[in-house]
Amino acid sequence: MLVVLKKDLPIQVLEKIKSLIYNYHETIRLLYLNDQPILWVTELDSNEIDLFSDYNEFIERIISEPISWPLATRAVRPQGSVINVGNQCISEEIFHVIAGPCAVESWEQLYNIAIQLKELGIIFFRAGVFKPRTSPYSFQGLGKEALMMLKELKQRFGFYIVSEVVSELNVELLSEYVDILQIGTRNAQNFELLKAVAKTQKPILLKRGMAMRIEEWLYAAEYILSQGNSKLILCERGIRTFETYTRFTLDLTAVAAVKRLTHCPVFVDPSHAAGTAELVEPLALAAIGAGADGLLIEVHHAPVAALSDKDQQIRPLDLKRLLSKSATILPHFGKRLGIVSTACC
Ligand code: PEP
Ligand code: MN
Repeated sequence: MLVVLKKDLPIQVLEKIKSLIYNYHETIRLLYLNDQPILWVTELDSNEIDLFSDYNEFIERIISEPISWPLATRAVRPQGSVINVGNQCISEEIFHVIAGPCAVESWEQLYNIAIQLKELGIIFFRAGVFKPRTSPYSFQGLGKEALMMLKELKQRFGFYIVSEVVSELNVELLSEYVDILQIGTRNAQNFELLKAVAKTQKPILLKRGMAMRIEEWLYAAEYILSQGNSKLILCERGIRTFETYTRFTLDLTAVAAVKRLTHCPVFVDPSHAAGTAELVEPLALAAIGAGADGLLIEVHHAPVAALSDKDQQIRPLDLKRLLSKSATILPHFGKRLGIVSTACC
């Protein structure tokens, strides 16, 4: 059960409520979804609920079902979260497409892709700086040098930058230059990293672990939200199944389910699920049908020459077609494409 308290309740009342629940510390916790105080009651019987009867005027809502993820549950924000990134909003109404190469490879590569994505109206540019590769002998990313290139790119083109944090050691460095910190599939249950990233108070894009159940994904979300950071986007990127024809299996069932379970915007990354460029468009369009709030797509000007994930990166021209199709269907799902140009459509 959740008791959603009023945001503006006087501090003395809050103190009184805290002293009331002091003896119930095993079963009642005071949590905050940003500045929204919430009492999470795990095990009280209905008589004990009378504890709060003198405080009814400070209670906004009571959600009586048992709840395992008190800050991630949609019940605490039925209208869905709106995440501000600079002058942009990530929400259930505006469908953003985060696009860019798997990794920063050189300034020429970055500039070439950026100029074409800017032309298409892309606002959120993704590119890996530190790459979590399966083999230690594969290209690991250019690190700090790449970060400086992204800084320059942001200044020239005005993009918001999305990049992955792979280690607690780099959280501070990345949060200085990056607008949305990505947690990749391999770190989705690295709880110390989740906490460190959440503490930066930057927007976070949390990918689903490739072997994570929905419940575990929501607990990972809870790790971030419980640090007082509710600027959280979830991103389905494919899970490991018995199927080996594709790189992973895009779990759109989870997208439809998680949309109902949580207030966090849910994005879909069809690129890493597909593993092959030709499947990116159909999966992306299906994601819209499943209720996704945005996409994360790998785009490269010359995919065959890419240093990582070359088979799955689409070309700017392919993205243009995808954006145009998305713009047509999104209004049927109560959304519109969040891009700044009409060049694509
Ligand atoms: C990526 O976005 O480049 C990436 C490594 O993704 P994932 O963590 O989903 O494999
Ligand atoms: Mn990649």
